[in-house]
Amino acid sequence: MAPAGVGFQLTDEQQMLQRMAREFTTKEIIPVAADYDEKATFPEDIFRKALEIGLVNMNIPEAYGGVGASPLEECLVAEEFGYGCTGISTSISLNSLAALPLILAGSDAQKQYWLGERLMGKGEFASYGVTEAAAGSNVAGIQTRAEKKNGAYIINGSKTFITNASHASFFCVFAKTDPAAGHRGMSCFVVERDMPGVSTGKKFDKLGQRASDTAEIVFENVEVPAENLIGQEGAGFYLAMKVFDYSRPGVAAAAVGLQRRCLEESVRYAREREAFGVPIYQHHAIGHKIADMAIHYQASRLLVWQAATQLSSGQIDPKLPAFAKAFAADKATQAAVDAVQVFGGYGYMKEYPVEKLLRDVKIFQIYEGTSEIQRNIIVRELFK
Ligand SMILES: Cc1cc2nc3c(=O)[nH]c(=O)nc-3n(C[C@H](O)[C@H](O)[C@H](O)COP(=O)(O)OP(=O)(O)OC[C@H]3O[C@@H](n4cnc5c(N)ncnc54)[C@H](O)[C@@H]3O)c2cc1C
Repeated sequence: MAPAGVGFQLTDEQQMLQRMAREFTTKEIIPVAADYDEKATFPEDIFRKALEIGLVNMNIPEAYGGVGASPLEECLVAEEFGYGCTGISTSISLNSLAALPLILAGSDAQKQYWLGERLMGKGEFASYGVTEAAAGSNVAGIQTRAEKKNGAYIINGSKTFITNASHASFFCVFAKTDPAAGHRGMSCFVVERDMPGVSTGKKFDKLGQRASDTAEIVFENVEVPAENLIGQEGAGFYLAMKVFDYSRPGVAAAAVGLQRRCLEESVRYAREREAFGVPIYQHHAIGHKIADMAIHYQASRLLVWQAATQLSSGQIDPKLPAFAKAFAADKATQAAVDAVQVFGGYGYMKEYPVEKLLRDVKIFQIYEGTSEIQRNIIVRELFK
């Protein structure tokens, strides 16, 4: 019989995975993070090394050549990568987001081809495209159109702010198949980068997470075979919402990693730096800030673990990923602001690590559903 109660103890395998991700972060991510950030270098080399040892594409099932990690295991790795550099972690982990529509709604043949042959076999990048210039939070408001013609779909429109778009070989894209049907008229397609009419536009220059690539995708009369439809026609909105339930714990876990980095850097600095004859942590205003970082880090991590564990049960309460994402993102932002404060003037300088943490953190309150949208989800669930 399964033991009753709530367990916080990781299995031996999970602890091993966590150690492996921590070592990888220490050896491969932290030494290059500042340079990749400054030059906005896409971390393809790091992705390749992580792919070799199964630390990326983690949610791809074993049947399709992946490691078939559980959501909790993915979160353990995301926290370690997030500790090292959330720009690098966003880019090297993005395939797991792009794979989700296929994992959740794809046919076996689609999974064999796109997950097995393309992502695992060829080691390609893929992107996930929902957002458009005029529709971000309002997913149902997208205007990209997919019209059925002679057994294929003709796609016209554009996507913006798409992570890894400049490097992806294919995109999982949401488009309206029946604009009059509102959110029930949306569908999801795999579109190949080299299909005629597909182009990627401007690569954005960003405040933070600069090692991650963010660009536009344009579709001009792109003929997509009907076999590239993922799931049912018209079921795209529900698929997009389900994808977010699965992806948000991992995003929140990266924010948890960033919180731990803020905490450890702050503890180290506040122990060494003296003001008025004592280490600055002994000034309560500073010590308490760091205590709050520790509380919020622990609480965020527990919410992430709970949300991730729920996903394995198959019964999803959308409040839990929303709790984890909103809380971890908001507390990570506060932790980065406070870490700079702990460092004083040095915190504002690029020679110290917290300046980058402050630039990197802000996006956690924006992508994968803003902090406001997470609260809207929670309100919707509480009052339904
Ligand atoms: C670096 C980066 C990477 C990204 N990667 C991807 C990606 O790979 N794929 C992808 O599809 N998208 C991606 N995005 C897009 C991201 O998910 C959107 O930017 C985000 O969902 C917000 O949409 P928006 O920018 O259009 O803001 P808007 O929707 O215009 O929102 C503006 C502000 O209004 C608030 N707001 C809007 N509606 C409401 C409401 N109903 N209630 C309360 N407040 C509201 C928002 O919270 C926000 O503060 C990325 C964005 C960035 C910056």
